[in-house]
Amino acid sequence: MELGDEAVGAGRLTEIGAERVRTPMQDSRTVPVSRPAGAGGGFALPQFAGQALRPQDRALAPAPEYVRAGRRMVDSHGRTIRDLRISITDRCNFRCVYCMEPDVRFAPPETLLTVDEIVRVAAIAESLGVRKIRLTGGEPTLHPRLADIITGLAGATDVEVALITNASLLSRDSLRAWKDAGLARLTISIDSLRPDRFARLTRSTSSPAQVIEGVQMSLDERLTPVKLNAVLIRGFNDDEAVELAALARTFGVEMRFIEYMPLDSAHAWDSSKWVSAAETRGAIERVFPLIACDDDEPSSTARTFRFTDLPNDSPARVGFIAPVSTPFCGACSRLRITADGKVRPCLFSTTEWDLRSPLRSGATDDELADFMIDATWTKQPGHGITSHGFVHPERPMSAIGG
Ligand code: SAM
Ligand code: SF4
Repeated sequence: MELGDEAVGAGRLTEIGAERVRTPMQDSRTVPVSRPAGAGGGFALPQFAGQALRPQDRALAPAPEYVRAGRRMVDSHGRTIRDLRISITDRCNFRCVYCMEPDVRFAPPETLLTVDEIVRVAAIAESLGVRKIRLTGGEPTLHPRLADIITGLAGATDVEVALITNASLLSRDSLRAWKDAGLARLTISIDSLRPDRFARLTRSTSSPAQVIEGVQMSLDERLTPVKLNAVLIRGFNDDEAVELAALARTFGVEMRFIEYMPLDSAHAWDSSKWVSAAETRGAIERVFPLIACDDDEPSSTARTFRFTDLPNDSPARVGFIAPVSTPFCGACSRLRITADGKVRPCLFSTTEWDLRSPLRSGATDDELADFMIDATWTKQPGHGITSHGFVHPERPMSAIGG
């Protein structure tokens, strides 16, 4: 049985307002509370006790007056938002086993933010201190007007615009057009270098060769620094850490390993499939000794390492994004806007705030800015993945924007 198969069809559909979303069975699976092999700390992994859905349209309380007056997005734990992730579509041509079920339902097109709405929200976010925007999805390259979005962002803001993609639809022409429009850099996901495994993992007709070609084309078009992302799943692709790390050396890029998070739409995540960053690093170091870089920004999601046998200034690096074993919530500077216009203060939020309604009912820029300040104020202190009360978020990664 493949990861994810067990859970296909295990959910049920529930109406929330006009939109249909998948919710877990009330008796959804529990995972053994045990410390997985290679875990860095003495924590217990979560039990999924069933999703407590909260109304998503309950009134958003105003942040304190002094916070609103500061015109910055700060939360009640003292963190300031600098990075905005905007999901421009919840659709995808892949069905990665750790992300999206084959029978996933997409949001109706009219609920998705338009190009103008995306650009307006971005400009307001910049006025509130955002410095970087990452366009994500779903698969953002499926958006028919991606070039217009990039052009709009470059025209209306001075923020750095980055894109994350599965690279299956890249072409030299599109990359050049996006670069000309103002795209600064690209992150590309690649989880396996073996064609059969890649096909089973992504449940797509694409191939590792296609992704590798996309990496080369992105470098040629100077959409740099190009970063690569992989999620390792035990018993699936966890034996490829070294080969994937070697990609960093071949292409002179950063290869980042993301710990598998309980954000899959199948709710099939469990500790037995999870591979810690420490374990992955150990496997790589047996072949390629690594040394920690000392230039990571405190708010960065990745802890980066360079190869000891390469020059100090080599761009070839390995990064570990370890939200499960080593949460980095304390320095979080990120806020997310979903494709249907909800503000999600955290990947793992169970409450999100509907920005689309005020956007479409005549709110001024100042009112929308207040809304984003208020929503940020509610940001939770941490994701709580490792706490017993953890609730698997309703939206999968593909519908949030990773
Ligand atoms: N479709 C694009 C892609 O795959 O690069 C962009 C969207 S995807 C949701 C963004 C990133 O989230 C990818 O690097 C993917 O590997 C990661 N991701 C998705 N589900 C995940 C999960 N359950 N745990 C950890 N990372 C996940
Ligand atoms: Fe699509 Fe990206 Fe999710 Fe894979 S990880 S299903 S490519 S959105």
